[in-house]
Amino acid sequence: MSTDPRTRAWVEARSKALRHNLDRIRASVGPDVKLVPMVKADAYGLGAAGVVDALEPAGPWGFGVATVREGLDLRALGVARPIWVLSPTPPDALEAAGMGGLTVSMSDLGSLERLAVLARAGSAPAFHLEIDTGMGRAGFDWDRLEPAVRAALAAEQAGARWEGCYTHLHSADEEPETIHEQWKRFQAALNASGGREHGRLIHALNSAGALRCPQYAADAVRPGIFLYGGSAGAGTPEPEEVVSVRARVVHLRDADPGTSVGYGATYRARSAERWATVAIGYGDGLPRALGNRGSALLHGRRVPIVGRISMDVTVVDITGLSAVEIGDVATLIGTDGEERITLDGVAELAGTISYEILTGLTPRLPRIWQPG
Ligand SMILES: *Cc1c(COP(=O)(O)O)cnc(C)c1O
Repeated sequence: MSTDPRTRAWVEARSKALRHNLDRIRASVGPDVKLVPMVKADAYGLGAAGVVDALEPAGPWGFGVATVREGLDLRALGVARPIWVLSPTPPDALEAAGMGGLTVSMSDLGSLERLAVLARAGSAPAFHLEIDTGMGRAGFDWDRLEPAVRAALAAEQAGARWEGCYTHLHSADEEPETIHEQWKRFQAALNASGGREHGRLIHALNSAGALRCPQYAADAVRPGIFLYGGSAGAGTPEPEEVVSVRARVVHLRDADPGTSVGYGATYRARSAERWATVAIGYGDGLPRALGNRGSALLHGRRVPIVGRISMDVTVVDITGLSAVEIGDVATLIGTDGEERITLDGVAELAGTISYEILTGLTPRLPRIWQPG
């Protein structure tokens, strides 16, 4: 069997574009702010190993993940930089985090007490206190921080390193005004709690925050989606295209008027048409919602998706396109000649966000990194 990963369908990722997007963040916040790229969910579906390799020459300060498993996987890849686990860690995973040299996020008093116990045994991870300024899903309430600070100081006394304090923005890409309100709450919390003492790292900004309000960058920023080519919202710079999704044509047919295609026969040829079957479906992460709505690029031309998307294949109407052959490459996301299908365009058409499109790309698609 051929070992070429491009036989059926695949994801192309461009490391140079990834670094360029990180440089845009750095240019926004300035050279003194620590860059902590978020590589949770296998680096937004691109593959953490490839992303870490691609970013390494840009010298990020550390990496952010959402689970202890993800952090340990990075360590197994040889990542020696700081790794922040920025989602509440289940109590039973704290010790493993400590052994792996990960830094965890603290959102509840019980976990801080657990940390103190582990610290006395010499196996506690360093921690950041998460302060909830409006996200509502994790962290200590910004205006009632005292018990948390007491427990954090106790954990510190027991030997756990209290390394930072942070918050997370809820609408930085949609309603930038809310950034100011959350920042004010965050500052109030830090002032009331002494969270700023002892050189603790203060951080709040995701991609949209870092591009829109760099004045709040503090010590570190945590960009994610923008690095991977997703827009950070109106008025922010366009990211360079990092990800393309491509697939081969595996079947061609002429369709007489009235011929139906796909489950439910939701589309019928309106006249004599020519159709190409492309070897990618919702089992690869192509949103089924694009059936009869989305398009693909073939030979540098935009062609509509007809009928429902199947698990393994998608049919496009190539009427009027000459010389399409089996084995030709169709583009579902990305650029072909002068035409482009953007990640955000696909997300909008599918009624979701770029994050879900990227993390929805399944393991069936090999990730192919383009050097340079
Ligand atoms: C995912 C995440 C980010 C990155 O957000 P983007 O919108 O992808 O830039 C930053 N901080 C935390 C805590 C996160 O969970």
